[in-house]
Amino acid sequence: MEIQNTIQALRAELNQHNYNYYVLDNATISDYDFDLKLKQLQELENKHPEFFDENSPTQRVGGTVTKNFKTIAHQYRMYSLDNSYSKDDLLDWETRIQKVLGNVDLQYTCELKYDGASISITYENGKLIQALTRGDGFQGDEVTSNIKTIKSIPLQLKGNYPDKFDIRGEIILPFAGFEKMNQELIEIGETPYSNPRNTASGSLKLQDSAEVAKRPLECLLYFVAGNNLPFSSQFEGLESARNWGFKVPKEAKLVNNLQEVFDFIDYWDLHRHDLPYETDGVVIKVNSIQHQEELGYTAKSPRWAMAYKFKSEQVSTELKSISYQVGRTGAITPVANLEPVQLAGTVVKRASLHNADQIEKLDIRIGDTVFVEKGGEIIPKIIAVDLDKRPENSEVTKYITHCPECQTQLVRNEGEANHYCPNFYGCPPQIIGRVQHYISRKAMDIEGLGGETVALLFNNGLVHNYADLYELTVEQILPLERMAQKSAENLVNGVEKSKEIPFESVLFALGIRFVGETVAKKLAKHYATIDALSKASLMDLILVDEIGERIAKSVIEFFENEENQKIIERLKSYGVQFEIVQKNNPNATEKLLGKTFVVSGVFEQFSRDDLKKAIEDNGGKVGSSISAKTHYVVAGANMGPAKLEKAVKLNIPVISENDFIKMLDETK
Ligand code: AMP
Ligand code: ZN
Repeated sequence: MEIQNTIQALRAELNQHNYNYYVLDNATISDYDFDLKLKQLQELENKHPEFFDENSPTQRVGGTVTKNFKTIAHQYRMYSLDNSYSKDDLLDWETRIQKVLGNVDLQYTCELKYDGASISITYENGKLIQALTRGDGFQGDEVTSNIKTIKSIPLQLKGNYPDKFDIRGEIILPFAGFEKMNQELIEIGETPYSNPRNTASGSLKLQDSAEVAKRPLECLLYFVAGNNLPFSSQFEGLESARNWGFKVPKEAKLVNNLQEVFDFIDYWDLHRHDLPYETDGVVIKVNSIQHQEELGYTAKSPRWAMAYKFKSEQVSTELKSISYQVGRTGAITPVANLEPVQLAGTVVKRASLHNADQIEKLDIRIGDTVFVEKGGEIIPKIIAVDLDKRPENSEVTKYITHCPECQTQLVRNEGEANHYCPNFYGCPPQIIGRVQHYISRKAMDIEGLGGETVALLFNNGLVHNYADLYELTVEQILPLERMAQKSAENLVNGVEKSKEIPFESVLFALGIRFVGETVAKKLAKHYATIDALSKASLMDLILVDEIGERIAKSVIEFFENEENQKIIERLKSYGVQFEIVQKNNPNATEKLLGKTFVVSGVFEQFSRDDLKKAIEDNGGKVGSSISAKTHYVVAGANMGPAKLEKAVKLNIPVISENDFIKMLDETK
């Protein structure tokens, strides 16, 4: 009983923290403490499977794999919205409505139109039981396990909710999260996603819910469907949903006439770029549910609601030329150079063209007048060509066949969108890019050296690969542009200090394709040394948790390359870390020599791993189970009762975390 209470209390507390953080944007606990409590709950749940609850906060991490999503009928149909593009359209709409209702006083709820993928979630007795995509409106795909990983969606409701209802919302990816995901992809040499909306809707159908859990998705709610609902208007419905724990944007506004609707539209047309997520319009809904019922539905949409689409910000301008950029991994990106033009408050000179297919599909030619649009992305894109303005002598764009930087013939792998320059060791932007990656903050974090200086060092023949950095001298650097004695010394010192960077970061810094930060950590931990890693076979690598064939192949290729082998040998000779070292801890002693400890429960000042490390750093041994050979049991909160009993029986001292700290201090 007591355990069950602890479990429930922890779940309630964690739910509340999730709510504070993801719905209210107002965290009241540190990430560290949150993780600690989550771990504590996870351990209790593991020990007591009889108290399993599929809506426990521990289930947010996902892990269910769905091969085929089931199709299920919506209890309440999911309609589309009629679109309007002008204020006249809205005036006409109101006239039609008033004909049906008989010229009543009308209020409207104005909401932003969130641009993502729609979802319908069913709750019963306050618990999330099912989530369906829109599908064709009559039936959708069941994506419950994916949806549960989205932390702004409550698994357990609060307050006075109805027994059973469906709630509709939009799954979106806020700009910040989208940029972050793309940044990570770029770092490992992968192609970034093209826009937040497609990425959000693609996420719903990922087979592995643990993958969904990693994406910073959100759900914004806008409609409650059900019988005998405890409110009589759309606006109250939104407020109720908010009180039950849902994320309902505060921008929604109750207004008294169309003029106020227009004001809302004008305001957001101007300010929508300040929002953290994409919106493509406003949805106007007749507020009274009684009025809504009188108005009813057409074959595809409610008569009581209307979407007003913002005019997408588009301009036309001339395409002057196409340049081709070569990235760190050799990927070629075509970029359009435009006649400068004003768009959404900025001057646009360049637009992204993505790849050869895109150019071919739109038949984009130099000299064309093109339409440029600004979506959520930083770089605008070309969406169409104005064929009426095409010059007579224009020629079909021939995609380059050779690298613009090193003239090597390009390759394009089966199934990949981008062309590559395969001259990894001789192509200047690739060489510079790799060194820039090597010194970057998450990699070797070399202070005193920036991206531009790397280019400068390369152009002056001083650095051809990252191993060369370690042979730089102040005398060599000083003659370079804008280099003073001090900055030259800082550079050399920064390089020297990077020899202390731990193996996992070094592995990431090497820039092996598809080996990002997380993968580098996994590999470093598993193999412990670069020698072991470089000898691993394909099969061996694939057996490592979360390492797939694509990564494995890339690792093998990297180590088979003689150039890389030489570089690594050199790095080794300079003293760069190629093994996991027990962090040389200044507090290390031999105080606990000869003593064996067993650690159990959850601690406040240490994570369990840190506690074990502290024991080992001080000469002690960590045992996995209590036996006659155990000298001490360090017990944290929620230590298992069986263990405690055993310790008592064997007469082994059970000490607290604080006793342990004292033990270290005293013998100092
Ligand atoms: P459409 O796809 O153009 O027919 O527009 C209808 C879709 O707009 C709905 O299925 C919702 O997914 C989406 N939508 C976004 N924001 C709202 C909102 N505030 N109210 C209603 N629908 C919305
Ligand atoms: Zn090249």
